[in-house]
Amino acid sequence: MLRLFLGACLFSFCGISVCKSIIPKIGIVGGGIGGTSCAFFLRELFGKTLEITLFERNTIGGRLNVVNVDGKYYESGGSVIHPTNKHMVEFLKILGLEAKKPQGGTFGIYDGKKFVFRESDWYFVTMADFFWRYGFSVFELWKEVKAVLDDFSRIYKLQEQEQAFTTVYGMLEYMSPSFKNMTQETLHSHLLKKSFSKLLLDELVQSVMMVNYGQTNNISAFAGFVSLAGADSNLWSVEGGNKLVAEGLLQKSEASAINGEVIEIELLTDGTYALTYIETSTGETLRLFYDIVIIAAPFIKDSQNIKFINFKKDFKQYETTFHKTIATFVKGSLNPLAFHAPNVPKEVLTFQPNLLFNSIGRVHPVNDVKNREDDEVYKVFSQQPIPKSDLDEYFKDIEMIKERDWLAYPHYDPPESLPPFFLYPGLYYVNAIELTASAMEMSAIAAKNVALLAFNLWNNMVDKVDHHNRVYKDEL
Ligand SMILES: Cc1cc2nc3c(=O)[nH]c(=O)nc-3n(C[C@H](O)[C@H](O)[C@H](O)COP(=O)(O)OP(=O)(O)OC[C@H]3O[C@@H](n4cnc5c(N)ncnc54)[C@H](O)[C@@H]3O)c2cc1C
Repeated sequence: MLRLFLGACLFSFCGISVCKSIIPKIGIVGGGIGGTSCAFFLRELFGKTLEITLFERNTIGGRLNVVNVDGKYYESGGSVIHPTNKHMVEFLKILGLEAKKPQGGTFGIYDGKKFVFRESDWYFVTMADFFWRYGFSVFELWKEVKAVLDDFSRIYKLQEQEQAFTTVYGMLEYMSPSFKNMTQETLHSHLLKKSFSKLLLDELVQSVMMVNYGQTNNISAFAGFVSLAGADSNLWSVEGGNKLVAEGLLQKSEASAINGEVIEIELLTDGTYALTYIETSTGETLRLFYDIVIIAAPFIKDSQNIKFINFKKDFKQYETTFHKTIATFVKGSLNPLAFHAPNVPKEVLTFQPNLLFNSIGRVHPVNDVKNREDDEVYKVFSQQPIPKSDLDEYFKDIEMIKERDWLAYPHYDPPESLPPFFLYPGLYYVNAIELTASAMEMSAIAAKNVALLAFNLWNNMVDKVDHHNRVYKDEL
């Protein structure tokens, strides 16, 4: 049934006949890790003669960027990568880039008045302290995270076999039958059902959610587990800055990059697409034509989104509320008095959603220079800008403050209604995956899926689409 449906979609959708050329012309909207890795995968699949154009209205890398604090550069957006993130690890090898381990430092969990937990410099002491405060369940939790990561990794094997999914639900269900449900319930209720202690959830788990997603345990269980995986001690980042991956992939893909904002996507009568964009340097409004269009940027509620013309479907339904996160960089030292403590750990986590900050952490420049004394610079995450008078309380000897605000990630509010990757014949949406969880690897997985989907459907290889013949037609 699926095969028939997709086959039919390819040649005629809503009465439109598609005239196919041998090699399609593809337009990609968005030059973050999603768009650039998609360009890279498309080049691998379609080969040398494929024409790809990538539109980026701002800078290549998107939410991967750096900020200059007193002459040194620090990650201001996506910063750490998990060792099991196979695509990111692979990109590093392909591009000849180096991984950089975060420099040591202990963390503490702050309740607004005192530290309720402090990591020790000694691993076994920390483990004993964990056990003492949270009981054995803390070790059970890491086992659960490991099990989720193992199921999640199944997607890599399937992608090696060039299988693709039209919907995010289909992909999740392939990874594990429990994953779809994990997008439908909160992390809090998911973990409570598994008898994890309230103290563990309220303090440790919520602090991890606050630092990674600026949200509480009311986020979806799936996003919550991705965030918990981000509390691993073996995380890494890219020497020179994570955005080098996006820049490198774009170069490898040999796509032509246009610095401009796509404002309109029009479905033409022959089933191809016209993209209207405003070129940044000239301000001119121009139009280009494509067989396939890939959207690699999120549809954000209450933002200026792309206008879709001539579609019999309203893509507004896929708009998502995004969470505002402010990263404030402070060159100075933490003031123990403000934390009512004799000294302050390098990383201050909190589970209190009503403090001025979600987390404070010491950061190091993206370029490691051996034997160099690093400046003392901290990254403070918050929902609102932090007034200078408050920063003066938390920090001593402030030499410089830099602020970067982001529409950072979706506001997770389960049950989530996940958009499909397949929006219309020849029109695909990489960031459909973000409502499950937002991370560099999630975008890379979605990018590979969309590249495979575009390739398989273009070549009518419907047996390589929607493994197990599951199709979620309601969402298409
Ligand atoms: C503060 C912060 C911390 C984070 N920490 C981590 C972390 O530690 N680890 C991790 O894995 N992830 C982290 N993330 C999440 C991660 O950065 C994102 O999930 C990932 O970078 C998203 O990549 P993307 O390509 O899908 O989207 P984006 O990077 O948002 O790329 C989309 C691009 O499309 C462009 N665009 C949008 N509309 C148009 C248009 N109409 N025309 C042309 N161009 C357009 C945008 O300018 C943007 O460059 C963090 C994010 C933030 C903000």
